[in-house]
Amino acid sequence: MSGKFGFSTCKEVTHLVLQGEDRQLGVTERLKVRMHLMICKACPIFAEQVALMRQASQRWRQYSETADSSGTDPSPRP
Ligand SMILES: [Zn+2]
Repeated sequence: MSGKFGFSTCKEVTHLVLQGEDRQLGVTERLKVRMHLMICKACPIFAEQVALMRQASQRWRQYSETADSSGTDPSPRP
């Protein structure tokens, strides 16, 4: 049931949100997601969760990278 504006289904939008983690979404795709998030109640929560998870994983990656590089340094202990 796609109307004139082609309103996206929840399935399509969650798929696009997840795709946005791996690649840059096109303008049309981002517009679809944004428009759907305005009319849907469940998907904004889902998108928020994905954003939070991405932030957490980025922080973790940064942390593990810095821990890795400093771990190779020789300790200045006598
Ligand atoms: Zn939805």
